[in-house]
Amino acid sequence: MAKPKLQAPVVKNQYIELAITGLGHEGEGVGKYEGFTIFVPNALPGEQIQAKVVRVQKTYAYGRLIKIIAATPDRAEPACPIFHRCGGCHLQHLSYPAQLQHKRQSVVDALTRIGKLEGVTVHETLGMDNPWRYRNKAQVPLGEIDGRLAVGFYAPRSHDLIEMQSCDIQHMYNDQIVHTTKEILQELGISQYEEATGRGIVRHLIGRTAVHTDETMLVLVTNGRKIPQKDVLIERLRQRIPHLVSIVQNINTERTNVIFGRETLTLWGKDAITDTIGSIKFEISARSFFQVNPVQTEVLYGKALEYAQLSGSETVIDAYCGIGTISLFLAQKARAVYGVEIVPEAIEDAKRNAELNEITNTHFTAGEAETVIPAWYHDGIRADVLVVDPPRKGCDERLLATIADMKPERVVYVSCNPGTLARDLRYLEDHGYKTVEVQPVDMFPHTFHVECCVLLKWSGDE
Ligand code: SAH
Repeated sequence: MAKPKLQAPVVKNQYIELAITGLGHEGEGVGKYEGFTIFVPNALPGEQIQAKVVRVQKTYAYGRLIKIIAATPDRAEPACPIFHRCGGCHLQHLSYPAQLQHKRQSVVDALTRIGKLEGVTVHETLGMDNPWRYRNKAQVPLGEIDGRLAVGFYAPRSHDLIEMQSCDIQHMYNDQIVHTTKEILQELGISQYEEATGRGIVRHLIGRTAVHTDETMLVLVTNGRKIPQKDVLIERLRQRIPHLVSIVQNINTERTNVIFGRETLTLWGKDAITDTIGSIKFEISARSFFQVNPVQTEVLYGKALEYAQLSGSETVIDAYCGIGTISLFLAQKARAVYGVEIVPEAIEDAKRNAELNEITNTHFTAGEAETVIPAWYHDGIRADVLVVDPPRKGCDERLLATIADMKPERVVYVSCNPGTLARDLRYLEDHGYKTVEVQPVDMFPHTFHVECCVLLKWSGDE
């Protein structure tokens, strides 16, 4: 066995040359210096670089990129002028095909290293034809820069506003909503909220676009009920923002980082906009959750439907069902779908969406998947197909244990974190399941997020 290293081979402020061999979880370049791991933001795999060591920990260090000695052909010029300061995107300096390859590789690495899974088919990442302007929701704080009203983003881990003129991953309509509203607020002298003093009126602007119906919504989050010149404001917003069908005010008087307050009022137009995923309609109100990239959601959940291989007679459980997107997708081809989700408001939305689409074979319950599904099992509910779409921390072991007891023929695992996915697949493999195939789907181009859909089959009795 190698002796444990007692000391890092680098010190702070040291200049080192490094070959970058991989990307870390947040898109940083990773290389080894005398066997010691060094993270260098903005450096890319395949590059030879010079870095200055800025932070040394026991088992790794961070370096600042000083010079690229040999660049990779995959390096791209970031499209956005504030890419290096904003923190919303992580990979604009990597060409899109290379991003897709990297995302697939990170799934393969997690499956082998963490899941100890050999020989699983991992398909090429399904990317977007046009990986820009895909976000359907913009949520931006207001601030003041040189005496002017400004919109932008907070720099990573801070509350310094970085001004944004246009966001290339945002739907064009949302960009228009945000910038036109800012102009009108400035014209009317309606002030922005100031965190330091708690004074001023408008805290955040939220633009939402329904990409399939072209309806748009503006939400003004304000520090109080009163908005000066409200009628003129509404009139100008209506005249100058295309496709606007809803203007909503949310009141947040707390001194907090939380964006929304408790009270929401419709100032003009509809309470909600309507969008579709596949053939299913969804009503999206100011605060409801909705998938951020509707185009790729359809691709990802289409894969889940394909993997579920439904003939119409199956009982399906959709664990972590959110607003029921997957449940409603599958309900059209199944006998019954049982959805469970921890947020009660999301379950209300799921039920409303079922009604809106006249789908009558779904049953939604609010609660923890790891508590509700064992109770269903106890009550005699048996799923032929079980779908899970958990948050980053993956599935609770109590849920996995219930799956192993219930033995649904197929498990479809939708994951936003390859690490916890690999851990959970190992558990299921150890309890009689076989991982058949894995399909990564790029839901968030230019960011480090990796999503995939996995098909598992019961094979324990073979
Ligand atoms: N498929 C969903 C989105 C899933 S995101 C949709 O289409 O809307 C993961 C969801 O898991 C979130 O909605 C989150 O609120 C929920 N969640 C987190 N922990 C949970 C738990 N222990 N039990 C059930 N749901 C949980």
